[in-house]
Amino acid sequence: LEKGLYCIGCGARMQTTKATQSGYLPISALKKSLESDQLLCKRCFRLRHYNEIQPVELTDDDFARILHQISSTKSLIVYVVDVFDISGSLIDGLPRFVGKSNPILVVANKVDLLPKSLKANRLKQWLKDQLKDSGIDPVDIVLTSAIHPQNLDAILQKIEDLRQGQDVYVVGTTNVGKSTFINQIIKSTMGVQELITTSRFPGTTLDKIEIPLTDGQKLIDTPGIIKSDQMAHRLDSHDLKYALPKNEIKPRTYQLNDQQTIFIGGLARFDFEKGPRSAVTAYFENNLPLHRTKLVGADEFYQKHAGNLLQPTEPNLSSLVKYEFNTNEKTDLVFAGLGWIVLPAGIRIAGWAPKGVSVTVRRAMI
Ligand code: GDP
Repeated sequence: LEKGLYCIGCGARMQTTKATQSGYLPISALKKSLESDQLLCKRCFRLRHYNEIQPVELTDDDFARILHQISSTKSLIVYVVDVFDISGSLIDGLPRFVGKSNPILVVANKVDLLPKSLKANRLKQWLKDQLKDSGIDPVDIVLTSAIHPQNLDAILQKIEDLRQGQDVYVVGTTNVGKSTFINQIIKSTMGVQELITTSRFPGTTLDKIEIPLTDGQKLIDTPGIIKSDQMAHRLDSHDLKYALPKNEIKPRTYQLNDQQTIFIGGLARFDFEKGPRSAVTAYFENNLPLHRTKLVGADEFYQKHAGNLLQPTEPNLSSLVKYEFNTNEKTDLVFAGLGWIVLPAGIRIAGWAPKGVSVTVRRAMI
């Protein structure tokens, strides 16, 4: 293997150890495909046989190189974000990378997770403000739910109108649902696997997937960019299932006095440090248990109950890191990729999360 076997689909060097990187094939499957003379990496195999795109990981260097290549083109950028994890969706300096003159259409995905009562226009305006704070000024924002898209035709039409005969690059961080979205496009526009070609971004080991558009231009899927501060990267697949929402989130509201704490499973913690009695509303996966306790005994409570009453916990049960804030407007305290708590203005709070997972505040979404 080390001498170099290459995938006939994408040309990546085959490897059997890193499942999320290019050229991966489990050793058992590799043996089989050597016999059959059809040497395809898992990703290309899934693509050929199931029309399914698998995400690959990206290092910062590869990422910079790929985005730099986009900046030298004239194209439409379709930027997929996850409304449940906006901070995990943000790509700092995106306009600079993809070329300041290239228009950006934001596809805000997973709206099925948010309360149905949330008005589309309000959400769009909120997103616009959040993106603006990161220097991103999209030409438009469309809301969707890529697992059951009801407005895919309208989105495709919007892409068609905005691209003005140019190529389309689809970008996004991992887990936002970019592959799901692309797969829906493939399903609705062709369904014939031969129509999809993969090729390499020059100077990288990463493949792009090119979906031909009607006028000879292409829709190009780029590899998902890893944001390492997301909770998703710290949990194993079992715990991830527990912690990531699958259905519309049912908000959980608590009337709290200060000096009270809420544990979010064993993964995170919220302290109401100072302020008048307040209603706080938590948005997390519906089955993720929340536990209210007194702030004064919270450390011992965690030591005693992490892993049993407080589930799930981080695999290595490192202690949680604390971040303190004062709210000066209606605020979301956000645990990257896990969820958030809506807080009133004028209180002092702390959020705790495993080391490396960011805890931030933002203007309230809902
Ligand atoms: P990628 O890494 O951006 O390509 O993301 P994937 O397409 O692999 O999706 C990541 C996870 O989000 C998967 O578990 C999907 O099932 C889930 N997902 C994708 N789209 C949606 C959506 O519209 N709503 C919900 N609730 N989950 C979604």
